[in-house]
Amino acid sequence: MIKPAIRNFSLTDLEQWFIQKQQPLYRAKQLYQWLWKRNIRRIDEITNIPKSLLRAIQSETWWDVIELFSFQKASDLTIKASFFLYDGLIVEGVIIPSNDRTTACISTQVGCPVRCRFCATGNMGYVRNLNVGEIVDQVVLLNRLSTDQLGTNLTNIVIMGMGEPLLNYEYTLKALMHLTSPEAMNWSKNRITLSTVGIPDRIIQFAHDNPGVKLAVSLHAPFQDKREQLIPLAKKYTLIDILEALKNYVKITNQVVTFEYLMLYNVNDSIDDARELVRICSTINSKVNLIPYNNVEGLAFVPSTEDKIHTFYKFLKNRHINVRIRKSRGQDIDAACGQLANKLVNK
Ligand code: SF4
Repeated sequence: MIKPAIRNFSLTDLEQWFIQKQQPLYRAKQLYQWLWKRNIRRIDEITNIPKSLLRAIQSETWWDVIELFSFQKASDLTIKASFFLYDGLIVEGVIIPSNDRTTACISTQVGCPVRCRFCATGNMGYVRNLNVGEIVDQVVLLNRLSTDQLGTNLTNIVIMGMGEPLLNYEYTLKALMHLTSPEAMNWSKNRITLSTVGIPDRIIQFAHDNPGVKLAVSLHAPFQDKREQLIPLAKKYTLIDILEALKNYVKITNQVVTFEYLMLYNVNDSIDDARELVRICSTINSKVNLIPYNNVEGLAFVPSTEDKIHTFYKFLKNRHINVRIRKSRGQDIDAACGQLANKLVNK
């Protein structure tokens, strides 16, 4: 039988395990806190659980801690980090410092099955889902790196790196629980954003599971046919279904949804596109982030010109859409949106 990764267990799973071993339930909470409050890297760091129990945990489970492999710092102080996984694979995360916050962008999969045509990760293909601990470790290690390199702790997390989080639903949700639980890392929910390309049934499930974090949707085009050209998975998950799911999401959670919109020259930056985007926004409590595209080696997409971005922005703004243009960060180290793709993975 394959042993389970101990860090894929929820608190309830740990309690079940301790019940089976005829141990008191408070031991489960003790272990949970060692794992997620103290973020220990090895079982022998635990000091208040009997050695015989620790040996049983060690022999029946395994550890999947990740290690910092390398990092690069951009001229704008954005840091891209590579993490080494237990099976020799690598994922990337990014620290994005700005005036009022220091944000970690983390990954949920190695590669990505969505295969967006403009995205370096998508062009790598899909390798595997990350485990719960592998997702949370990125925050722990990026926080250390941020303290060392920038002299500041992380303040925000965006789940916007490699992979589609709602296609690694169970482990992403557990990671969010560990990040936000007062028994664990106690992150404020409104400082965490999960970004999805739009998987309708998972959006509804996410609303019901209600981890309380913010939701962003990578819209990138307001018309079904254009979306399909950019995002192959859009054929399966249509815009109509996604927008319907988002209306329900807003109803259930009472939250505002953010639409992420990558500005691609002569692809999705016309006034017709802007007009349709305004129509969509008028039906859903939402705001829009316009994201200047960053060239990806080997891909044919070109960034929209500053003029076109500004005209698009003005069109939305004049129609009372809550819109902003997001600054592109870390371009000189390939750390910007859509540029994460660990070349080492393919070696
Ligand atoms: S943009 Fe996001 S969803 Fe699309 S391929 Fe890249 S990582 Fe996957």
